[in-house]
Amino acid sequence: MSLIFSGVIIPISTIDWYGRSASVVFFNGCNFNCLYCSNNKFIEVANRLEPLFKQGNVVVIEEIEKHILDAKNFISAVVFSGGEPTAHFEELQHLAGFAKKEGLLVGIETNGYYPERLEKLIKKRLLDKIFLDVKAPLNDMQKYKMITGGIKDATLRVSRTLDLRDAVIEVRTTVFRSFADDCFISGIAKALSGRGCTYVIQKGIPEFAPDERLQKEAPFSRDELAAFARSLDFLDDVRIRTKEKGEERIIKKV
Ligand code: SF4
Repeated sequence: MSLIFSGVIIPISTIDWYGRSASVVFFNGCNFNCLYCSNNKFIEVANRLEPLFKQGNVVVIEEIEKHILDAKNFISAVVFSGGEPTAHFEELQHLAGFAKKEGLLVGIETNGYYPERLEKLIKKRLLDKIFLDVKAPLNDMQKYKMITGGIKDATLRVSRTLDLRDAVIEVRTTVFRSFADDCFISGIAKALSGRGCTYVIQKGIPEFAPDERLQKEAPFSRDELAAFARSLDFLDDVRIRTKEKGEERIIKKV
């Protein structure tokens, strides 16, 4: 029986994997319900694996393979995103296998809630890079719950993802004024010290957030983000990402 895919694909993107051109495959549905998720108004509270993207089609998975093949001459990687791609493991594994068979690198943008699934992909050599959203300091369970819509064991499970061996991990955090300050950022960054991973601070966009308090706040400026990044001089590779300027390296020691 053929697998069914629900989501959307962007055939060529240069912003999801720094330095690479990639196809990006967005899976519908997520097990989190983040305050600032521009897609979470489509999540039913009682059933969080409902479609996220209005435009998302339900197609046989071979349709997605065809799109990847069509873009193959222009890309070096496929990035799986969402929603939460690891929440759709059978389809994810199938498409990751397809991409590897075609000689492409595989990256996954994830909330990190399913470390055992990511580990399976690593062991099968189907995963080259994890782009891990760390939403709050991993020692602050209350803040993590507040941001993710009440997910109780997220800090534990995301910490296990961060500890995965044989994986290249880039950590990302989206920041809004109402919950992110120096302490918040350094609290996340301290857990990354000595791990050799890249850390990216992303500017949150209030008008896209479903939460009314977030909608009313002023976004961080590019210079404020750069100041956060510069304060993390105990890390080797720190970047910021803004809609205006894309991704900028602020600290690069290696
Ligand atoms: S983990 Fe990502 S896709 Fe899921 S609700 Fe949060 S921001 Fe949205």
